[in-house]
Amino acid sequence: MNFGVYIHIPFCRGKCDYCSFYSIPCPRDQGETRILLDGYLQALIKDIASNIPFHGAVVDSIYFGGGTPSLFGQNRISAVLRTLKEFFQVIPHAEMSIECNPSDIRVDALLPLIDVGINRVTVGIQSFHERLRKLIGRFPEPVKPDVLEQFFTIPGIVHGLDLMVGILGASDEELYGDLSSAIMLKPEHISVYLLTLEKGTSLADRMANDEEFQNLQRQQLACAIDYLADAGYHQYEISNYCISGFESKHNLKYWTFQPYLGFGAGAHGFTGENRYYNNQSVEEYIKSPCYVQDVRSVDAAMAEYLMTALRLIDGFSETSFWEIFQTDIPYHVKQALQALQHEKLLKCMQDGNSLRYALTKEGLFISDYVIYRCVESLL
Ligand code: SF4
Repeated sequence: MNFGVYIHIPFCRGKCDYCSFYSIPCPRDQGETRILLDGYLQALIKDIASNIPFHGAVVDSIYFGGGTPSLFGQNRISAVLRTLKEFFQVIPHAEMSIECNPSDIRVDALLPLIDVGINRVTVGIQSFHERLRKLIGRFPEPVKPDVLEQFFTIPGIVHGLDLMVGILGASDEELYGDLSSAIMLKPEHISVYLLTLEKGTSLADRMANDEEFQNLQRQQLACAIDYLADAGYHQYEISNYCISGFESKHNLKYWTFQPYLGFGAGAHGFTGENRYYNNQSVEEYIKSPCYVQDVRSVDAAMAEYLMTALRLIDGFSETSFWEIFQTDIPYHVKQALQALQHEKLLKCMQDGNSLRYALTKEGLFISDYVIYRCVESLL
């Protein structure tokens, strides 16, 4: 059984108005911030070194997520990779990904990371329009076209780009401008996220989650799906599109219930049997990493599987459900699946000797509702 490894870097240059993730603003890598980042690195190393039960496990994907992992710096990222290679069997050509802010994608900063094995870099553009980035309070990052062009021609890595759509106030021109600017850079992978108004964020205080907002979201998502399909990007998950063969192997582990080890303040992991998480602040984590077992009932585990598997455009098959839970899909879930088929929100296809369920295009636009209907009897 191969594992993924997730390394959480909960630091950002500033706080975006729509973000509800735990992260600490770290504008510059100097002074007290440097001491904090160095302390976090030492805690990560200690954490990896003390994960004795899994030492020696085969690792085929490593993902630095955040936060803004690129501001952790090449030396610290290299040190984490060295430690992982010391304690785990990281296979040759393992997928090694990092998320970056546009201001961190300088070629001189990325080449050392590529030298130590990073082979997949995703840039969180969100929008090429400064007006839209200001509207959602995206921590201001100038997107310099020449720097972007340089980044997207670095050989030997998979280039990813994140966009955000469904921003109330965005015109069709701006939406298509963002999509066409993205395509022109020829990334192998594109993520398109719908803006969500998370409770407690400053954006949720100034933007209403009303009918107008929801209609715009649906319309912009439909445009993005069609536009990217015409440009040769296949949608393999609700928010993810790629040129065939460039799917994120690491993220697919989350959606197909494969094991991954998580390290860092706020990281989650799944050993294949047990889930665990870390809910410590950075300061607590630096003092001593400590994980909590996330004990779940079988029903809760089934609900989680269905919630993640239905995010995949190919959905899930009865066989894959059986292989994970050693039992058939529960009666009430099957009833919900059938009802949703009648409502044309879900489709059911023959898959060998098994049946496969997936969202229809209509279901995809209201995926939260459809997925909730599937799992509500398990909650
Ligand atoms: S950069 Fe990402 S993680 Fe950091 S505050 Fe902005 S949205 Fe949140």
